[in-house]
Amino acid sequence: MADDSFRAPKGTHDVLPPDSARWIEVVSTFARRAERAGFGLLVTPVFEHLEVFERVGASTDVVRKEMYELTDKGGRRLALRPEGTAPVVRAFVQHRPTTPWKVWYLAPNFRYERPQKGRYRQHAQLGVEVIGTADPGVDVEVIALAAGFYRDLGLDTSLVINSMGDPETLEHFRATLRAYLLGHADSLGDDFRARVAENPLRVLDAKVPEWQDVIERSPQMTESLSDEAAAHFERVQHGLDVLGIDYTIDPHLVRGFDYYTGTTFEFQSSALEAAQNALGGGGRYDRMAEEMGGPPTPGIGFGIGIERVLHALGERQDGSDRLDVFVVDTLGGDEGLRLLQQFREEGLRADRAPTGRSMKAQWKAADRARATYGVLLAPDEFAREAVAVKAMAGDEGQAELPLTEVVGWIKERVEALR
Ligand code: AMP
Repeated sequence: MADDSFRAPKGTHDVLPPDSARWIEVVSTFARRAERAGFGLLVTPVFEHLEVFERVGASTDVVRKEMYELTDKGGRRLALRPEGTAPVVRAFVQHRPTTPWKVWYLAPNFRYERPQKGRYRQHAQLGVEVIGTADPGVDVEVIALAAGFYRDLGLDTSLVINSMGDPETLEHFRATLRAYLLGHADSLGDDFRARVAENPLRVLDAKVPEWQDVIERSPQMTESLSDEAAAHFERVQHGLDVLGIDYTIDPHLVRGFDYYTGTTFEFQSSALEAAQNALGGGGRYDRMAEEMGGPPTPGIGFGIGIERVLHALGERQDGSDRLDVFVVDTLGGDEGLRLLQQFREEGLRADRAPTGRSMKAQWKAADRARATYGVLLAPDEFAREAVAVKAMAGDEGQAELPLTEVVGWIKERVEALR
């Protein structure tokens, strides 16, 4: 145990450079998309009062079985956030901003799950929520934002959509589904029966192969929608068609939370294994604000798992961890520091090796950093108020440039390459 104490806890992981450069790329791609669509960043605490999650997810595994609960020294019952929507709605109810309230977030979630590739005890989600409008056009905008984000990253995804209807019809559907499933319980065994008793909707996303026939032939949610819910769902489909966003309707799509009403959706990737192929998903939760003591206020949003996105992207190198320029300094005085700072002030990615290394070791470090240019500060050149510049990838050797011109010269070339 002593050894394990100084390793990241089971189901968690560190993200080190250079891999973390891809994190920045994913997050900034998302932030740009979200800000362009009128969303502002919302930052909420990593822990909330236990009730925030219990109120909205009492019958879901994520809340019942997987939540990290704690009691602080003041005796407060708290939970590390297992998901992103409840904290946003809690913040909405607390601050009552004008609606529609459009926020995006980047936050870690904690779930005591069985760790495997793409499934962790701490994972990070990017997401958006729009609170205060039931307009089906907003469902379309929200889905389009996620689709655009995946497209920006060059990820192939397929979109599946469904409607959970309104709570009354969902209750009716749940009863119909339960009766149907119980009709098959004799042949499918005790696990099946227990799952049906707990929540028949949860059977629909079970991955047990022997259950699939029965699941496939089960009643479909989309057939028992109220007129209003059906019209809403129609308008969502129409909007997606208008924007040219491909989708399939999966009347058996259920997501891991019970708070959904109306539109639900999921983006899947064929680059991931089936059990973890969901890259992100979300839906409407028109009752949540009310359940937290706020006024009845509809809402919709989604969450996207960053680690899954990175898995789906694979080992692609985007060059964002490269340096523009590496300063090789054999003078060992203030000049290296000053020049380095000038490069950085001009917006170039610049670095150097710690002082005291041999010239050979410094050039090696420049290679390792995959710098585009190396700049040598050495006594002979410096006496002429010049530096030697070398394009690291080419074999043209070094060129001499006046010290006063080198920053502008490299900047111009690096910008042309970008
Ligand atoms: P959910 O909050 O369960 O609707 O999940 C939203 C997205 O978060 C999923 O589509 C995954 O991309 C990601 N995700 C959920 N749970 C995990 C986990 N345990 N580890 C890594 N990513 C996860």
